[in-house]
Amino acid sequence: MKISLTKNAGHCFGVKAAIQKAFETVRRERQPVFTLGPIIHNPQVVRSLEKEGVKAVKNLSEIPKGVIIIRSHGVSPQVIATAQARGLKVVDATCPFVQRAHQLARQLVESGYDLIILGDFAHPEVEGIVGTVQGRATVVSGASEILDLPEKKSYGLIAQTTQTLENLQQVASALLTRTRTLKVLNTICNATTDLQKQTRLLAQAVDLMLVVGGRNSANTTRLAVICQEAGVPVYHIETADEIQPGWLQGVKHAGVTAGTSTPEEVIKEIMERLKNMTDAG
Ligand code: SF4
Repeated sequence: MKISLTKNAGHCFGVKAAIQKAFETVRRERQPVFTLGPIIHNPQVVRSLEKEGVKAVKNLSEIPKGVIIIRSHGVSPQVIATAQARGLKVVDATCPFVQRAHQLARQLVESGYDLIILGDFAHPEVEGIVGTVQGRATVVSGASEILDLPEKKSYGLIAQTTQTLENLQQVASALLTRTRTLKVLNTICNATTDLQKQTRLLAQAVDLMLVVGGRNSANTTRLAVICQEAGVPVYHIETADEIQPGWLQGVKHAGVTAGTSTPEEVIKEIMERLKNMTDAG
């Protein structure tokens, strides 16, 4: 069985930087260190940070004192203000691409555009962007939702960094039925688009795709959907132990891709496991 891995699979630059910052912070600080939610959607990385003393909390109210690390997804300015008001030290590991989305959202609103954010309403990155414009935004997940919007003088459109270009194009095109002035600022992250493109190409060439990454990770789930759309059997796994030999029966060429929150070691282990299974079979 041939096994192919997408180029650039695994940790993107923003996630790598956030993890590094978390390790540096806990080694430097003499006080308790927390992250607001897991630093990335990868249980193995979260566990190794826990071993060093970084605890993930759901809410700021769970932290009596110490340091709070803001994840690469970012948060709203209100969350940072609340943390500072509680006397916590804030270490901001927001990815620069997400910071750019915040900045462009503010610019559009300040320039008088009605802001549309293409993304997942409940995703922390989108919550952060909505917060940065004090809620003056409408979040949509696709073009079908545009039909419910009122006609406006001008709309401004940005996207959650993990969105696909196709979805952004469809929403932009639908928005033109609601306004004569539309400003689209492409805030999709290249790391995500490149990986999605490579995943699509690989899925079209293989008999089976394994998508590696946290089940709660938006960008990994998106990769699984892309593989499904290519019509290939796809399994979304977090570790090598989940691979079942039965999946590989009759498979001549298996493809592997991994979300931006997947550590290199996990990918390496999966590639080795697949190779061993092939050698054994
Ligand atoms: S996927 Fe892109 S936007 Fe998200 S953390 Fe990685 S580099 Fe930043």
